[in-house]
Formats: sequence, structure tokens, C-alpha cells
Amino acid sequence: MNTNLTLESIKKFIGVDKHLIISGPCSAETEDQVMSTCERLNATGKVNMLRAGIWKPRTRPNSFEGVGEVGLEWLVNAGKATGLKTTTEVAKAEHVEKALKNGIDVLWIGARTTVNPFSVQEVADALKGVDVPVMVKNPINPDLALWIGALERLNKVGITKLAAIHRGFATSEATPFRNVPKWEIAIKLKTIVPDLEIICDPSHISGNRELIPLVSQKALDLDMDGLMIESHIHPSTALSDAQQQMKPAAFGQIIDNLVFRKSDVKNELFNNKLEELREQIDKIDDDIIHQFGTRMGIAEQIGIYKKENKVTVLQVNRWKEILEERTSMGKALGLSEEFIEKLLELIHKESINRQNKVMNEDLVGQK
Ligand code: PEP
Ligand code: MN
Repeated sequence: MNTNLTLESIKKFIGVDKHLIISGPCSAETEDQVMSTCERLNATGKVNMLRAGIWKPRTRPNSFEGVGEVGLEWLVNAGKATGLKTTTEVAKAEHVEKALKNGIDVLWIGARTTVNPFSVQEVADALKGVDVPVMVKNPINPDLALWIGALERLNKVGITKLAAIHRGFATSEATPFRNVPKWEIAIKLKTIVPDLEIICDPSHISGNRELIPLVSQKALDLDMDGLMIESHIHPSTALSDAQQQMKPAAFGQIIDNLVFRKSDVKNELFNNKLEELREQIDKIDDDIIHQFGTRMGIAEQIGIYKKENKVTVLQVNRWKEILEERTSMGKALGLSEEFIEKLLELIHKESINRQNKVMNEDLVGQK
């Protein structure tokens, strides 16, 4: 996949060198909740930009859908009180117009909007001729082209201060995450657009407070450009995403405990790629070992069956057949004969041992 984006740094716009740390409530709920959360965040000294959702895209109606425009004033006031820049989510032209009118510094497009090119285009059209930084969350589904497409639509209307936010992907797989990270997609984006800053949102990946440190560290180790972490003065009473929000002090603690590594640009790319490949290897090794476990279980069953039918463990013809068939398959896949033979010998030996064990179970006790 190819793209030709013209980019300027959002980190530079905010005034940070290495990592951009964004925090604030999932949703603005009251004036006091926004101000007290943001003041406490600022007191940690670990935050560069304040966030709050004003219009909330909810899966079902009759959930809390955000306080609307009045919340923009609360967020802007919190920005003024702390001297920090502010950011909020926009999903349509009206949101863009209101956010800019109220003086929000940076906009972001949410995961449910990135999936819809009509909505992204509407936001882009509303931004024509405006020089405001925009961060684009990945779409809910793991579709890199949609993510890049949204960035392109914004770039086409003249938005150059662009960043991506990696917030994980919806899945039906059993996983400890609310949204599986699929790091390889963020890495691929970085490989295609090396100058694009990518911020990780561990809150929406994790879906709970416990996993946030782990996901944050992983993001930093993959050389992401920053983190967006949701925080709330009283998380348990939050009107949205209560499980994943954390108190400002806990946020400060998490940032404090993270290891911010340094690496030069060439090494970053090298490390990202290496990490991606190692993950693939880990997964394959895991599969291989599981398969060996299953295979040896079947070998034992064969042992029992042979015993019942008074047949010898070793049948030379069968072994010869295995060796020939597997060696030529291995060769076709580019594996050396020596490697396959050694591997098969080991497997066969273990198989024989397992069969011998079940065959001679009765003898062991008699000795
Ligand atoms: C949010 O940041 O509160 C939000 C709604 O996120 P996402 O678009 O990633 O679901
Ligand atoms: Mn949220």
C-alpha cells in the first residue's frame, strides 16, 4: 500500500520532544468534574494535553450521549487554568464548527467515525482552510486502508498536522482486551508512513484499569509517540467507560513507572520490525508445541491399540514411509534433508517411548 501524505509534527505543535501524553475524562460530565480532574492531572506534571468527550458515540440509544456544547467551555477553561492544550472528538461538521468556535486546540476523529468515509469526508470538508491538528483513531475493524483513507481525506483539504491514534480493534475472539491491539497493524502504518506520529490509547485497548500499564509499556517499546489515557476524579461514578478510567494520581503513578527508552530512527524501525517478527515466531512455536502434545497423545492411543491386538511397537515399513514422505515434503518447503531427518528421529523416538510405556505398564510393577 502506498500513500503520499504531507505531514507536520503534532508533538512540535504541543511543544514536546519525545512523547505526547494526553489525559482527561472519557466524557465531560460536569464543570467541576472536568476542572478538578484536569487540575489534578496537571499537578502530576505528567500530562501535555487534556482530553474530554463532548459528544459520545454510544452503541445503544438512551445511554449518556455527552453534555454537548456546554462541555467545550468547561474543557477550554480547564486548559486555560492549567496552561495545557485541549482536544475533543468530532464526528460531524457541526462538532467541528463548535469545537473551533470555542477554542479547542486539537481535534480527534473517533473509531466509529473512521469506519465511515461519508462522515470522515464531512469532517474534512468542514476543516477546509483551517490549520488545526487532527488525530485519527483506527477504525473499529482491523482495516488499515480505512485508517489511511481518513488521513488522506484530511490531508487533501490541507490538514498537515496529523497523527494516528491506535485504540485496538473489535473482535469476537476470547481475549483479555476490550479491543485487541493487533500491534502489527500500527507497525504496518508506521512502515508505510514513517513520519506519521502514532499515539497509543491503552484505555480503549484494555477496557479495564489493570491492563493499562502493560499496554502502555508495550506501546512505548514499539516506539509509539505518545499515550492517551482516560482519567476521572471519581472513576467508579463515571457516566461512560467507568472500568477503564483512573484517578489522576494513579495516572501519574503509571507514567512514572513506565520506561521511556531512547533509540535513533533507524533502530526504531529495526526494533519494530524485529518485534513483529518475534511475535510471529512465538505464536508458531506455541502452535508447534501444542501439536506435539496432541501427536504424542495419539501415539499413546496407538500403543494401547497395538497392545490389545498384540502387535509390535516398531513397524519398520511404517517408519520408512514416514521418513520418505515427510522428507520430500520438507524439501519442497525449502527445509534441509538433515534437519527433517533429525526432527523426525526425535519425534519418532518420543513416540516409541510413549508407546512402550503404555505397553509395559503391567511389567513395571512386577519387577
Ligand atoms: C473515546 O476516546 O472516549 C472514544 C469514544 O474512543 P473510541 O473512538 O476509540 O471508541
Ligand atoms: Mn472512552
